[in-house]
Amino acid sequence: MTPLDLDANATEPLRPEAREALLRALETGGNPSSVHGGGRAARRILEEARRAVAARFGGEVVFTSGGTEANALALHALLPGRRVLLGATEHAAVRAAAPQGASVLPVHRDGTLDLAALEAALRGGPPALVCAMAANNETGVLHPLPEIGALCRAHGALMHVDAVQAARLSGELPGDTLALSGHKLGGPPGAGALVLRGGLALTPLIPGGGQEQGRRGGTEALPAIAGLAAALLAPYDAAGLAALRDAVEAALGEGATIAGSGAPRLPNTVLAVLPGVAAETVVIALDLAGVRVSAGAACSSGKVARSHVLEAMGFGEDAGSGIRLSLPWNAPDDAPERFRRAWEGVRARLSSRRPALAT
Ligand code: PLP
Repeated sequence: MTPLDLDANATEPLRPEAREALLRALETGGNPSSVHGGGRAARRILEEARRAVAARFGGEVVFTSGGTEANALALHALLPGRRVLLGATEHAAVRAAAPQGASVLPVHRDGTLDLAALEAALRGGPPALVCAMAANNETGVLHPLPEIGALCRAHGALMHVDAVQAARLSGELPGDTLALSGHKLGGPPGAGALVLRGGLALTPLIPGGGQEQGRRGGTEALPAIAGLAAALLAPYDAAGLAALRDAVEAALGEGATIAGSGAPRLPNTVLAVLPGVAAETVVIALDLAGVRVSAGAACSSGKVARSHVLEAMGFGEDAGSGIRLSLPWNAPDDAPERFRRAWEGVRARLSSRRPALAT
């Protein structure tokens, strides 16, 4: 039996629409910067993809290699003359791009940004750049972006939104800049985008041959970009996923705490905290049982670290005990039942060591 993929927040399975667009762009070939007919054909694909992203989010679109680069480009471009405020649960891509001395804002126990702390930090001082992720990649918690945006406007601050995990949700995403990533949408890895609103100027992070109107050097990864745009246009059944997500949550049974359960969340994500249990143990045991999940936080080495997200939410000792279950766009209807069966076996083995899980 093929393994059950519950790790979509790491990378979504490729959507057929994206695969088709990718193959078409590959077959077309060419470099969008070439002046001849081959280049012009490639440029048409590139600009069509740009129009599709701009039609969804408004503003101008600069293609990048992925979400990490889009976040780094936004911070690099917007930083001069501004102090940086960022939420404590931001992704490493934003945390690493923020300058030393950036102010880290607390979140509530449910994982949402503390708006009173944001307002206090915005009051006085030089103009700010506020980094607020739309949806947290570990918990799925949605931050109150409209309220954050209103505070930014009231205090003359710019707002950068890491929208990598939330780009498929309906509704408007506020922000002066938005970071996107193709492989989190069901597109291929290798492409992302930064959306710029309000005519913001942008100094490139990677200078080069003048691509992307001089805003990001380097030949565009056309097949990945075409795939990103096609994946963004593909339908996303948020309600169907939310129903499956609720059933997966129910299958966890007692002994697990759902992080951020009181807050609005992505329809596909559950972060279950299993007190006293090392997340890594559960990830490996579930893998052996045919279910692919992640620990809340994973280092690039594949080792599991304590989650800064759970720490910021006040989980203390249990910050290394979070298991993330994230349903892909094509999750099968029997995903909750398959998860339940695998989990019951794993839980029985763990509970011989941790009686709290036996209930
Ligand atoms: N931002 C968030 C919220 C993410 O979840 C990720 C990837 O996990 C990134 C940024 C980085 O995106 P990419 O893998 O495309 O560099």
